[in-house]
Amino acid sequence: MTTAKPKADAAEATVEPASDEEPKAEVPRCGAPHFLPALAHITCQRDAPDPDLPPGSPEHEHRHQDGDAIYVW
Ligand SMILES: [Zn+2]
Repeated sequence: MTTAKPKADAAEATVEPASDEEPKAEVPRCGAPHFLPALAHITCQRDAPDPDLPPGSPEHEHRHQDGDAIYVW
């Protein structure tokens, strides 16, 4: 009888996330800056365009909301 335990036992004590929600999908943001230089710090908050879209597809309407101010370009 031995009380010595291999150290691997400690590694098995992993912490499981206590969440029953679905994992948050990492949706990339468009992030396109506003075309006006004065508003270039404003970036599009919409989801990035679908990478499967064929080349030449029209871009979505970029949108940024800052409080009550909504920028669309
Ligand atoms: Zn956009």
